[in-house]
Amino acid sequence: LHAFNNKVESVYLWAQIADLVLAFLKNAIAYTYLIGLVINGKITVSEFLLYFQAVEGFTLLVTTIMKKLNTLKRQSMDISVVREAIDYKEVFKFAEGKSLEIEPNKDYIIELKNVSFKYPGKDKNVLTNINLTIKPKEKIAVVGLNGAGKTTLVKLICGYYDPTEGEILLNGVDIRTYNREHYYKLFSAVFANFSLLAGSIITNVAQSDDNINYELVYSSIEKAGLKEKIESLPRKYESNLNREVYEDATNLSGGEMQRLMLARALYKDAPIIVLDEPTSALDPIAEADIYNKYNELTKNKASVFISHRLASTRFCDRILFIADEKIVEEGTHEKLLALGGKYAQLFEVQSKYYREGESKDEK
Ligand code: ADP
Repeated sequence: LHAFNNKVESVYLWAQIADLVLAFLKNAIAYTYLIGLVINGKITVSEFLLYFQAVEGFTLLVTTIMKKLNTLKRQSMDISVVREAIDYKEVFKFAEGKSLEIEPNKDYIIELKNVSFKYPGKDKNVLTNINLTIKPKEKIAVVGLNGAGKTTLVKLICGYYDPTEGEILLNGVDIRTYNREHYYKLFSAVFANFSLLAGSIITNVAQSDDNINYELVYSSIEKAGLKEKIESLPRKYESNLNREVYEDATNLSGGEMQRLMLARALYKDAPIIVLDEPTSALDPIAEADIYNKYNELTKNKASVFISHRLASTRFCDRILFIADEKIVEEGTHEKLLALGGKYAQLFEVQSKYYREGESKDEK
């Protein structure tokens, strides 16, 4: 919708520019013609003034009509955006789905069976025929080049997208039968493009405005290493986040935002942790600290990490290498290195890059 709105804005801007150019051309032609007539003695000065005013009046009329048409066009585009959102067909079951009680200590098995996925309007699959089982407490890393489909795979697992083909089972039952809102409770997910809620830090950690367990909010923030920062703010835990909504919103740095998302995951305490690994926003020390905290968090839970630094996949039970719409390599870090395939190749390139980086730093 945002992209569509931007498109509407740019169409509107171009229409305005075209309008101005047209008005200028129209006036220039009319005035040149009239002045020409006066110079050649074909009309008198009083006639010139009469025609001049007539042209003025006509231009004003045409400009007003054009402006009104523009407003009408813009409003109809705005309305169509809203209409598109209202008409959007909900693919998931909510209240009409089977209820699902998620218990923190229960064993959950997620199974992807022949899952293929294509984004609407695209003609090529992002993922084709994926078969994958996530066992209780298993730690899985998903690696691959940019655009390989790692985030898409993880979003399918979390139930944000519906497979174009195939099915996803939870303890043997197709997740389409469940109330999707209940299924979401199975995951604490942290994505690179997270969203901030319009509300306080407390609301953002609890992701809710009612039934908040305040003690858990404070302890999650403390465990995430954000206590000091938040207590230094004038309104402390009540500080508003989200600049788009509040003028007085607090600006957290990239690293602090990652910690806030970690606090969210700690608060939710879901059986499966899903993590799109942070990289760019963090300095190496903060990154190591966040890794340790996530390791702590995932200790007795299943987890799916999207990993950009292959060194951090070493402690995972299983690594999936995604390429060409498929899981092309699968196994532990040692097994994949021994295989000498794509994973080993990427690991070699990355280690060389980091070694070179380190030796440059030493100089
Ligand atoms: P990765 O996480 O491995 O970098 P993604 O899963 O984000 O890869 O993206 C896989 C492919 O799907 C890319 O080609 C990307 O451009 C495309 N893609 C991702 N999200 C969308 C979307 N919402 N709509 C259309 N195409 C998308």
